[in-house]
Amino acid sequence: MYKCRNCGRNLTDPESVRIGVGPVCYTKTYGVVEKLTAEMDAEEAELKHDNHAIRELHKRYQNKVDAAVDLTKLGGGPVCCIVRGHG
Ligand SMILES: [Zn+2]
Repeated sequence: MYKCRNCGRNLTDPESVRIGVGPVCYTKTYGVVEKLTAEMDAEEAELKHDNHAIRELHKRYQNKVDAAVDLTKLGGGPVCCIVRGHG
């Protein structure tokens, strides 16, 4: 039986099993990450491939996410990787 990595409840939905957290915890945690990532993407688009500025931007948003949710519980990596699924 698969359990939610955040609260330990049993997971029955295949999509919840795939991401490792139940819908409530998903909204509480990844929901915050997704919102912040959307803001980050919008700012990044304005930076026009200025790699230094983009690195600084990612660092700034990483701090915001770290302050909002405990990604280690979800087995998460850097915020820019989690939502895009390559972390
Ligand atoms: Zn949960």
